[in-house]
Amino acid sequence: MPCSCFIIPNDVLTRLSQDKKLSAPQRKRMVDTVEISHELRELRTQATRLTRVAATRAGGLVTLAAAPAITVYDCRHTQTLPGTPVPRPKTSSDGSVKRAFNETARVAKFYQQIFNRNSIDDHGMTMMSSAHFGEKYNNAMWNGSQMVYGDGDGSIFVDFTRGSDVIGHELTHGVTQHSLQLAYSGDAGGLNESMSDCFGSMFRQWEKKQTVNKADWLIGRDIMGPAARKRGLTCLRDMANPAAKHCLAPQPTKYSQVTPGMDPHYSSGPPNLAFCTACVTLGGYSWAKIGQVWYHSLTGFGASPNMTMPAFAARTRQGARTLYPGDAAVFSAVDAGWKKVGL
Ligand SMILES: [Zn+2]
Repeated sequence: MPCSCFIIPNDVLTRLSQDKKLSAPQRKRMVDTVEISHELRELRTQATRLTRVAATRAGGLVTLAAAPAITVYDCRHTQTLPGTPVPRPKTSSDGSVKRAFNETARVAKFYQQIFNRNSIDDHGMTMMSSAHFGEKYNNAMWNGSQMVYGDGDGSIFVDFTRGSDVIGHELTHGVTQHSLQLAYSGDAGGLNESMSDCFGSMFRQWEKKQTVNKADWLIGRDIMGPAARKRGLTCLRDMANPAAKHCLAPQPTKYSQVTPGMDPHYSSGPPNLAFCTACVTLGGYSWAKIGQVWYHSLTGFGASPNMTMPAFAARTRQGARTLYPGDAAVFSAVDAGWKKVGL
């Protein structure tokens, strides 16, 4: 299966493109998004391969900057990447451009302050975003070297820069590409998607200063449009209740329900639930301890493209013991998380 790193899974767009309750132009937007997404996915696959080969050939990565530069481009509704540079995105009158800049800067700060990570590659890589990609394009993505945001059709989805968890999710695909280098199929694919949901959700909670009990654990809540809400769909995924009916793409909750060819947007359900359960069991802030265990497991051991979920679960159990030897509650919480999903 080729890599894909879009926030909206392909089958959801395909399903919506056949939905007779939507207007013909709305359905066409879904078809367009699927077709363009296919080509963008090829690009990402190649970029991931390049990262892998470059990492093995380089004598050691050179740090580019002490903190990453943040740049924003405007595609002006074309599909030409990166588009035209925006000179002062921080103060732009264009809401999408301004949000892309500010949220990316905050993701950089989140990774720096909470995990001591210098940008996506931990070597100060420039964090580049393109806004207004395509015409009412219904997706957002990490293409292997930059972020791309569509405006959404305004009906099912609104502007994708509105979701801080979406931004955190996609940028985390970059972090995974430069650390564990997980593949995008099988168990590794589900873990790859789950890492992005875990860190995307943690980022949103950190921005809002929410404890695990205050957090809603929803992914994509802020990008759901009026037509989706009218149908009772309040999010893409729910980490606390992956199979819930209010999700646009409900997921399995047990590891035993994960099948080999499953789209990673679905097989991420069990590891998402394990992470959420561990956080809620321990209490406090998600990023304080459980987030540290997950980050250590993601970035502390080099590349492992075909990692299985049981192997990742074992690594986090060990990580809880290594990082918090005097705090048995952390191990118990991590253990409870994985047991909940049958691991
Ligand atoms: Zn993703």
